[in-house]
Amino acid sequence: MPSTEFRRPVSPVEWWIAAHPKGTAPVLQLAVEGTGRIDAERLAAAVATAADACPGTRLVRRGRTWVDTGEPPAVRTVAAGRVVDLPDLQVALDDRRGPTCEVLLVGEQDPAIVFRAAHAVMDAGGVLLWAADVFRALRGEPLVGAPDTVTETDLLPPLEGKPQPPGLDYPALLGKPGPGRRTLWVRRSIDGYHAGLVARLATVIAPLTGAPEARFSVPVNLRRYAPETRSTASLSHSVPFAVPTGQDWSTTHERLLTLLAEERDAQARLDPAVLKMPIPVLRFINGALERKAAKTDRYASHCSLAHLGRVDVAGFSGAGFAATALYSLSTAPAGGPCEIDVVECAGHTEIVLSWHDGPGIAERAEAVLDAIEEALSPAALRTWAANDTARVVPQTTVVAGFAAQASATPDAIAVVDRDGQYTYADLDRRSRAIAAALQERGIGSGDVVGVLAERGRPAVAAIWGVLRAGAAYLPLDTAHPDARLADILTDAGAPLCLVDAPRPVPGALELDTLPTEPPPGWAEPAVGPGDLAYVIYTSGSTGRPKGVEIEHVSLSNYVAWATPMLGVDAATRMPLLTSFAFDVSCTSLFLPLLAGGTLLLPGGELNHATLRRLLTEDAPTVLTLTPSLLELVCELGVRPAGVLVVAAAGEVLRRSLAVQTLEVFGAACRVLNLYGPTEATIEVVAHEFHPGRDTAASVPIGVPTPNCTAYVLDAQHRFAAPGEAGELVIGGVQLARGYRGRPELTAERFVRLADGTRVYRTGDIVRVNARGVIEFLNRADDQVKVLGNRIEPAEIAQTLERHPAVAKAAVVPRHAAGGHKVLCAYVVADPAPAPEELQAFVGERLPRYMVPATVTVVGELPRTVNGKIDVRALPDPFAGAAAPAGQQQDRDELTRAVAAVWAATLGVDADRLADDADFHTYGGDSLLMLSMVAGVCREVVGAEHEQRFMDRLGDIVRRPTIEHVADLARSVRSAAVPVS
Ligand code: AMP
Repeated sequence: MPSTEFRRPVSPVEWWIAAHPKGTAPVLQLAVEGTGRIDAERLAAAVATAADACPGTRLVRRGRTWVDTGEPPAVRTVAAGRVVDLPDLQVALDDRRGPTCEVLLVGEQDPAIVFRAAHAVMDAGGVLLWAADVFRALRGEPLVGAPDTVTETDLLPPLEGKPQPPGLDYPALLGKPGPGRRTLWVRRSIDGYHAGLVARLATVIAPLTGAPEARFSVPVNLRRYAPETRSTASLSHSVPFAVPTGQDWSTTHERLLTLLAEERDAQARLDPAVLKMPIPVLRFINGALERKAAKTDRYASHCSLAHLGRVDVAGFSGAGFAATALYSLSTAPAGGPCEIDVVECAGHTEIVLSWHDGPGIAERAEAVLDAIEEALSPAALRTWAANDTARVVPQTTVVAGFAAQASATPDAIAVVDRDGQYTYADLDRRSRAIAAALQERGIGSGDVVGVLAERGRPAVAAIWGVLRAGAAYLPLDTAHPDARLADILTDAGAPLCLVDAPRPVPGALELDTLPTEPPPGWAEPAVGPGDLAYVIYTSGSTGRPKGVEIEHVSLSNYVAWATPMLGVDAATRMPLLTSFAFDVSCTSLFLPLLAGGTLLLPGGELNHATLRRLLTEDAPTVLTLTPSLLELVCELGVRPAGVLVVAAAGEVLRRSLAVQTLEVFGAACRVLNLYGPTEATIEVVAHEFHPGRDTAASVPIGVPTPNCTAYVLDAQHRFAAPGEAGELVIGGVQLARGYRGRPELTAERFVRLADGTRVYRTGDIVRVNARGVIEFLNRADDQVKVLGNRIEPAEIAQTLERHPAVAKAAVVPRHAAGGHKVLCAYVVADPAPAPEELQAFVGERLPRYMVPATVTVVGELPRTVNGKIDVRALPDPFAGAAAPAGQQQDRDELTRAVAAVWAATLGVDADRLADDADFHTYGGDSLLMLSMVAGVCREVVGAEHEQRFMDRLGDIVRRPTIEHVADLARSVRSAAVPVS
C-alpha cells in the first residue's frame, strides 16, 4: 500500500520556482540511454516501488506544503527518436494539479528512459537519487530511499544580512533567443573524465563571452552540508562566480574550491522571506523579470554551469537494459541564463547546452561545444594516422570461400594428418555430409555446435561441417576436464557436440556414425556475413568462463588481411600448432584452406620429437604459434629450410627470441608479432620484426590491421599522448558480437567512444613509441598468460574455494627460480588438505594449464591497503625447495646427468633439486617439461633410444621426478623391462 503520510514544507527556493507564469516553470530531466530492452510494465512497477521509497516523487503542492497523492509517477511510452528533439520534453509539469514527476520510455530496442520532475519539487541531485532507486527496483535490490523532509533553510547556516537578488546584467552566451518558448538542447559527448571540470569549462567559455570577465552561475548541491541527507527536494542553489578572460584553469579551479571550502556559497541564497509573498505576486514579478530579460537581452549571468558529478552506469542498468550514457536536460528559470549541464559517466563527459531556441542559437551552441571539446580532448590526440585503415569490408564468408576453392582445385591436398590426407574434394564432400546430417537434426543458422576432437582430419571436417550447416562451431579441447566441457556446452546452449570418439559430454554425436557423403541433391543453406561463425570460451574473472561470439564478417575481414600478411597461397603448408579451443588455431584452419594451400596436422601431443619431425619431414612454409612454443622450436637444434614466415601470437615476443628465430629459419624468414584478444577475432594489430630497428627487449605489436582501429586511453579514459602509457582499446569490424548470454559483461567490456565508435577494452597497457608503433607493456588487471593460455587467476581461486576444506584462496603468477612465470596458489584451509589433493581437485575442473604449480597453506591472505592480495607478503613457495643434504653425493652418473638437465631447464642449481620431488615443485610447467625431456633425450638417452624413451612420455608426465626420469632413461638405454 502506498503511504500517503508523507508531506513536507515548501522551501523558499521551491516557492520561488513554483511561482513561474503558467507553463514556464522549469523542469529537470535526466535521460538514461542504453542497450537492450525494458518492458514498460516492469518499468512502471519499478517506478511504483521506488515511489514508496522516494515519496517526493508523488507530491503536489497545497499552499506551502507538499502533500502525497499516493499516485506513483506515470510511465509513458514514446516513439523512438532523439531525446533532445522530443516534444514531450517541452511540456511543463503542474505543481498543483500534478503530476510533478513522470517517466518516459523512449523506443523499444536500445531505449532511453527520461526521468522528468518539476524543478519546484526536485533538483537534479534528487532526480539522480530517484532514478537510481528505480533501477535498484528493476534489479530486485533493496532500495535506498529518500524519506527526509529537510529544506535548504535547515541545511544552510543562518543568513547574514539581506541577500541581494541578482540583477539582469549579462548577455546570454548563446545569443538572443527568438520569440517562442521552445527550449533547444544541444548535446555533446566528450571522451574522458577531466579534473576540475567546472573550472576548465569556465576557462574555455570566458573568452567566448567577449567580456573581460565572464559571469557564471554555478549550482551547488546543498546536500554537501549534510551528506547523509536522503531527500529528493530542490536542495541546490546557484552561486555567482566571476572568471577573468585568460585566467588559467588551475587558478579558476583553486578560486572555486576556496569559495566552496569557505562556505561562501551559503550566503548566495534566496531570501527565505520570499515564502511570505503570495504566489500571484511572485508570479507577476517572475513574469516581469522574464520579459525584461528578453527585451534587454540581459540575464543573471552569461551562463549557468551545472556539474552533476560522476555516475556509474551499472547503477542505471538492469532487467536486460545496460545504460551507456546519462545526461541532464534543463529548462531556464525566469531571468536565468542558458545552461550547461554536465554528467560524467561511462568514460565520457556528457554535456548538454540548453537555451530558448532562436535563429543561430544551435550553431552558436555547437561552436561553444567545439571549443570545449578541443580543450578537453584535442583532435590531435583523437586522430592517429595508423587508424586510417578503412578498406572495403569483405561481405562474404569462409564457407563461400572454401566452396569456391574446392571447386577450383578439387584434387589439391587440403589436409594432412598422421593417418592420411584429404583433397579439397574430400573435405568438401565430408563437410557437406556432416552439414546435411546436422541439418537433419534441426541445426541451422543461430545454433552453436560443439566440436570435441583430437587435432586430426575428422575435427577439421567437423568444423567445416558445422559452418556449412549455417551454425557456429564451439571448439573444445579433449585435454580439458569433462565437467568443464559439459558446463561450457550447456552455457553456450549447444544442442549437439560432434566427437571423434565416445566422450561423456551432453549432446555427443560421434562423427564415425555420420554418412561421408551428402544426400544426393542436398541444398546447402545460405550463410551470411552477419551469422555467427564460432564461439570460443576464455577464462572469466568472475569464476565462469565466457563465450566470445564471432561473426562471419569479422572472420572474413581477418582472412582478407592475414592471407597476404602471412604470404599464404596455394604453395603454403601450414601446421596447426595450438589447440582448436584457442583462436590462434583459426589462422591455420582458415588461411591455407581458402588459398588452395595445405593444412598440416601433427599427430598427438606436441613435443620436441613431433615438432622436429614436422619441421624436418613435413616441409611447412608458414608457422603461427605462441612465443612459448616458438622457444621450444628454437631449441630443437634443427635448421629447417623453407619456412618463409613465422607469426608469433598470443603473448609477448621477446627480441632475443625473434633474433633466435631468424638464426634458426634463416635471415630471409619474416618474423611477425601478431596481437589480438579473442574478442577482436584472432589478431588486429601486427608488426614485422626488423632486427636493426626493433631494439627494445620486446618486439612492438605494431599498428592496426585493415578495418580495425586501436586507441590508447589513460586511466581517466582520455586519449593518451604519443609515448604515454594507457589501456589499448580496439575498434572495427573484427569486434565480437559480445559474450554469449552475458549482456552485463558485454556492456562492461564493449563500450563506445564519445563519437559512438564501438570498442573493446582489452585491459592491456601499451604505448605508441617514437616510431609510431604500439608497444605492449603489461596488463591493467590480474589476467595472465601462461604458455600463451589466457588465465584469470580469480577463476582458479574460486575453483579452489569450492573445495570443502578451503575457506579462502588466492592465485598469483610468480617467477620461479628460472625466471619463467608459474601460478602459485595460497589457501586458508582447516584442516589443510595436501597440496596434491587441491591440485587434483582443480585438475578435475579446469584445464591443466590452470592447475597451480604450487599450493601453500597460509593463516590468512595478506591484503594491501586497497584490498588487493599483497603478493609480496606471501611466502615464496620456491624458497624452501632444497634437496636433502648429502643427496647429491649419492647420485650415480646417469642421475647426475638428468639432474643437470633439470637444473639447466629450471634455472636452479642442481644441488637444490631433490631426486624425489615433482618437477612442478620447482616451477616447471608443461612446456618446460618438454624442454627437459628433449634435454634428457639429447644428453642422456641418445638418438638411437629416443623413440623408446618418448614412448614413455606419459609415464614421465604422471611422475616427473629426477629419480623416475633417470630410471626410465636407464631402462631404455639397457633395453631392460621399463620401470613404471
Ligand atoms: P587471447 O584472447 O587468448 O588471444 O588473449 C589475448 C591477450 O593476450 C591480449 O589481451 C594480450 O594480453 C595477450 N597478447 C596477445 N597477443 C600478444 C602479443 N603479440 N604481445 C603481447 N601480448 C599479447
